[in-house]
Amino acid sequence: MSAVVLKAGLVWTGEREIAGGWVLARDGFIEQVGDGPAPKADEVVEAGNCVAMPGLVNAHDHMYQWATRGYVADGTLFEWLRALYPVWAKIDAASVRAAARAAMARLLLSGCTLSADHHYVFPHGREGIFEALVDAARELGLRFHPTRGSMSLGESKGGLPPDSVVEDEDAILADTEEKIRRFHDPSRGSMCRVVVAPCSPFSVTPQLMRDSAALARKHGVRLHTHVAETLDEETFCREKFGKRPYELMEELGWTGEDVWYAHAIHLSDAEVDRLAEVNTGVAHCPSSNMRLGAGICKVRELVRAGARVGLGVDGAASNEDANLAMEAHQALLLARARDSSPQALDARTAWRLATRGGAECLGRDDCGVLEPGRCADIACFRIDDLAHAGIADPLAGLALAPPARAEVVMVHGRVVVSGGTLRTADEVEIAREIAATSARLAG
Ligand SMILES: [Zn+2]
Repeated sequence: MSAVVLKAGLVWTGEREIAGGWVLARDGFIEQVGDGPAPKADEVVEAGNCVAMPGLVNAHDHMYQWATRGYVADGTLFEWLRALYPVWAKIDAASVRAAARAAMARLLLSGCTLSADHHYVFPHGREGIFEALVDAARELGLRFHPTRGSMSLGESKGGLPPDSVVEDEDAILADTEEKIRRFHDPSRGSMCRVVVAPCSPFSVTPQLMRDSAALARKHGVRLHTHVAETLDEETFCREKFGKRPYELMEELGWTGEDVWYAHAIHLSDAEVDRLAEVNTGVAHCPSSNMRLGAGICKVRELVRAGARVGLGVDGAASNEDANLAMEAHQALLLARARDSSPQALDARTAWRLATRGGAECLGRDDCGVLEPGRCADIACFRIDDLAHAGIADPLAGLALAPPARAEVVMVHGRVVVSGGTLRTADEVEIAREIAATSARLAG
């Protein structure tokens, strides 16, 4: 690979703002950030009409759900899940591939350069689902942390999902280990890292949680799961285990710097402090939480306590979109509405959650900030379009009036979006494919 220089109207590194700044990248990594005359490079990317910032990080998603959007538009999480499990039981490698291409295309177009994907539905006998996710990320050029998720606690054993979508626990652990061996790349600048991710307290057994943690720690990979998303989940945990969801995580060894949760909404103040103390991360998913009426995450308290907090779009079946810039906007407004105070979350903190915060959840000290030595992952948003032209504080303006799409996106020094258009695949073809896939699953 060669050297590329990106020039922007304003560079926000994650820590400082540089008017008329530039970023020089070589072989996928940032070499220099500065202002004034830009250094010579093999490729020059002009984004003078944009704010350039670290690529946005999506800390929680279920990409297969792009094929099942718009179901149970007014249901609670448990109502929504019960209606969708039978539809999800029909997925296979082809439908997951179509959904992942759509989800990833939309993420890249929203400025996202690094994403996790919590995949936990592996219907019996359908091979190649995990591989389809990894292939789609490679094709589209997204830095990717796929999880080998799981469900093992079916209805007959007191769980929420029907028995038809749960797997045998030994098979889950064996397949997870195989996926780590085949796909996990721990190197700096890695484009693919595997995560171990049993789904939730109401869909796996405590034993699988313990065994999954031991497996992940044996291989040095990260752990992810849903925790304290709804009050229904809290009731389930109290009745079945005699504990609150976070207490259950503590008992199962599911805390520490190698763990990040999705949601973590219903935490007590003491639990917020304990979580921050052990360096566990939280993926806040404001659109999904509002869509499902799940509750409001204590983002201000978590940030103040020093916890790692990132943002996630969550699955598109409870969001209907995957726009990371929109999540920064939603996080900002939701925190202020919850506290009845505009001081609850400022724009720069919201962007920090969407960049460095997510990278920290995913264990990436090589992403999330524009500085020498980190990956050349950059998102550029226009500030000369109708929505943003003339706006006094561009960073605040982009958080308050979120851009519909990014203008330029670079992943590992490679331009994957330019002129607001995806360069690694055909957006129209992806839309046509996902329409057909969605219709097939609905039928
Ligand atoms: Zn989720």
